Amino acid sequence: MQSLLYDEIIKRHTPRGWTVCLSPEGAKWAWCFVDSRKIMVPRITGASTLYVFFHEVGHAVLDHEHRKQLRSVEEYEATQYAFGLLRVYGVVVSRGLVQEAKAYVKTYIGPRTPDYVKRWAKV
Ligand SMILES: [Zn+2]
Repeated sequence: MQSLLYDEIIKRHTPRGWTVCLSPEGAKWAWCFVDSRKIMVPRITGASTLYVFFHEVGHAVLDHEHRKQLRSVEEYEATQYAFGLLRVYGVVVSRGLVQEAKAYVKTYIGPRTPDYVKRWAKV
């Protein structure tokens, strides 16, 4: 995909009232700043950075700010949201990306995490 298409995808999926800005050059991390309604993501260059963008959008769209769930559930939901949108755009999700996402969700799993999240992350 080309950057013009990525720009279009960003425009289409930025939640109303939110802005998207770039993480510092070279940074791989992303963040969803709920107070200032800002999503900060690395430049989208392929499937994994598009995944990161959709994941952060998921936190905003799924209203994780107000629903007060366990972090493990929020991360699981944002991950599923992102994979769902990648499928919509026909982006091939590599095994590596799935493993990386599972490993990330796993870091938030605790005793109160629901079984469906644990099963998905294979804990
Ligand atoms: Zn997240």
